Amino acid sequence: MAVREIEAIALLSPVKQPDRWFGLRYSMNLYRGCQHRCIYCDSRSLCYQIEDFDEVQVKANAIDLLRRELAAKRSKGTIGTGSMSDPYMPVERDLMLTQRALQLIAEFGFPLHVMTKSDLVLRDLDLLRTIGRVFSSVTFTITTVDDQLGSEVEPGAPLVSTRFAAMGRLAAHGVQTGVAIMPILPLLEDTLENVEAILRTARDFGATYATASFGVTLRDRQRAYFLEQLDRLYPGMRAEYERRYGDQYFCPARGHRYLEQEFDGLCESRGLKTGVPHYRPERAQQLRLL
Ligand code: SF4
Repeated sequence: MAVREIEAIALLSPVKQPDRWFGLRYSMNLYRGCQHRCIYCDSRSLCYQIEDFDEVQVKANAIDLLRRELAAKRSKGTIGTGSMSDPYMPVERDLMLTQRALQLIAEFGFPLHVMTKSDLVLRDLDLLRTIGRVFSSVTFTITTVDDQLGSEVEPGAPLVSTRFAAMGRLAAHGVQTGVAIMPILPLLEDTLENVEAILRTARDFGATYATASFGVTLRDRQRAYFLEQLDRLYPGMRAEYERRYGDQYFCPARGHRYLEQEFDGLCESRGLKTGVPHYRPERAQQLRLL
């Protein structure tokens, strides 16, 4: 995959409030494009204006921008990373932009939420613990417990079993971690057994929370790419998608209402909170005083 440096104008984008999913105030993407190549990735949609998603663009001035922007912020709000590109994709191993960004976030005392599919996050364990004195949380996206299926739909990402192991190490070192079961791909991953297995395994590896989206969103270029990949991987499934969903944006999982109804109970019975925990400034203040 090609890698190219670009200059960004700004780094932290304000998130529309309230952000009920992740409680973010700012979103931070150090890269454009993603080496994980998930077949369902929403970042391929035209609205994000990434011409060639299979080329990674590196924001060469990201760290300078971040220092300036953090210094100028009057109030602290959670910085989220991992929405448009994975902050721990392979290129990060050498470039260490995410690590340098986390150093600044620790220095300025901002709360952080990381969304990833990579065990490379373990490299920054100490930083995550430091940031955790204010607030840090690492959510692993896991849509199946089956390594084979995972490697088909997320071909550039570490195996699902590797992600669970990383979750376990973070939890063992006191970093708050959980699982995002999203998207749940219709016809491939939309069974109660799959959802249950993810929750059970996540709990076994120290997750304390879970969130889920029972279906997948598809639009324009992203849809075209996804359907092409279905043709390649699962002959015949494209026709079933087209028959069920046509050009619909949200493509619900089979039995999505039933899965939604069951989800809270499944989490509760395994001691998992539903939803990603949000930063509470007053709670951080109390912990600092202890
Ligand atoms: S890891 Fe996230 S950003 Fe990267 S390709 Fe997969 S869905 Fe897209």
